[in-house]
Amino acid sequence: MKEVVAGIDIGGTNTVFGLIDKAGNILAEHSLKTTDYPKIENFVSALAAVINKLMEGKANLKLAAIGIGAPDANYNRGTIELATNLAWKGIVPLTEFIRKKIDVPVVITNDANAAAIGEMIFGGAKKMKDFIVLTLGTGLGSGIVVNGEVVYGSTGFAGELGHTIVVPGGRDCGCGRQGCLETYASASGLVRTVLYMLSEMSEESILRDIPPSELTAKKIAEAAAQKDPIAVEALDYTAEILAFGIGNAIVFSSPEAVFLFGGLAQAGEMLFAPVRKYVDENVMALFKGTVKILPSVVSESNAAVLGAAALAWNELKK
Ligand SMILES: [Zn+2]
Repeated sequence: MKEVVAGIDIGGTNTVFGLIDKAGNILAEHSLKTTDYPKIENFVSALAAVINKLMEGKANLKLAAIGIGAPDANYNRGTIELATNLAWKGIVPLTEFIRKKIDVPVVITNDANAAAIGEMIFGGAKKMKDFIVLTLGTGLGSGIVVNGEVVYGSTGFAGELGHTIVVPGGRDCGCGRQGCLETYASASGLVRTVLYMLSEMSEESILRDIPPSELTAKKIAEAAAQKDPIAVEALDYTAEILAFGIGNAIVFSSPEAVFLFGGLAQAGEMLFAPVRKYVDENVMALFKGTVKILPSVVSESNAAVLGAAALAWNELKK
């Protein structure tokens, strides 16, 4: 009998499932539309039905645990709390609800923490005990690992580097405050920077031909690759602010590496090279040259499900 875990990534639009073995092989996959289930009870029933269906006819497999990555998830309490991108309001005791349907250990954490555990179990941090994963998408998520353990803190919500303030009185953030790291150093932060530069600078730019609503980090990176002056400057500015955030995180937990993941990280060396340069220039002397800035090696398309599965495997190890 071979043990597998279910890795579940709950997103605002879709929920993706996988059955995953210890080596990180995805043996079966399925997905649901999260938005089809405005009532949490119906979602839990559908979720349990999918897991049972995935396990059906696989007599050689035993479901050992369920790991879930979800926005606003609290590992300590097994809940999703005050989620802004999900229909379920208030505090949802999701792990308890699932355990009533399927009697195996169920663990939950937010997407960035799941990405960090994914990197530790299946990715580039296999031999590391101290590292940070930054997910640079619509926002900036962070999973901080210290001495082999994700930092959850007393509330279960620790590791919100995206909401550390890097520019006092700066850009408005979704959290209600101003100048948070994620309003600059994320895929959407890069777009905001480009829109600002296009209005303030007179340089020619191929980005002027793209309607503002269609501007993406990917298109900006492509323009930068063609040496478009606005795109190059916007990426450089983004890298500089991201490096401030990384420099602060480095003095806080002294990681061996910082892994960058997500839409903005796909800009590759055009982002990594200036980030490394600015981190090196700005970090406190004691830490100079101690930290590698690396791309994540977990494949982008499966990372969320693998991260959730890694969370489950990691829990079983404890
Ligand atoms: Zn914020």
